[in-house]
Amino acid sequence: MDPLCPVCHTVVRTTDYYCFNCGKNLHEKPLSTSRTTEIMYYLGSLLLPPIGLWWGFKYLKQEDSDSKRIAYVCIAITVVSTILAVRWTMQFMNGINAQVNQQLQGLQGF
Ligand SMILES: [Zn+2]
Repeated sequence: MDPLCPVCHTVVRTTDYYCFNCGKNLHEKPLSTSRTTEIMYYLGSLLLPPIGLWWGFKYLKQEDSDSKRIAYVCIAITVVSTILAVRWTMQFMNGINAQVNQQLQGLQGF
């Protein structure tokens, strides 16, 4: 007797990793929620902004509250990190603009 998918109740095979009908992960391999993994994900979210979102959604799909917390923190860090990156880039560009303007003014002085 083949098992049923817990979500859509389609008959699936015991060897299937995902339900072919709805995509439900049948062999739940829970994502690690260890402190080390958590910190790695937070650092990754901080340093590589777009990836943190993907991790966040991956953890968001897990049922346990630890994963959910990691998900929210990853997403929050990613959002903050992105905003900071945009601001720093703009400041950097403004800095270059200011320098160029100064040099242009210097040239005009001659
Ligand atoms: Zn299914």
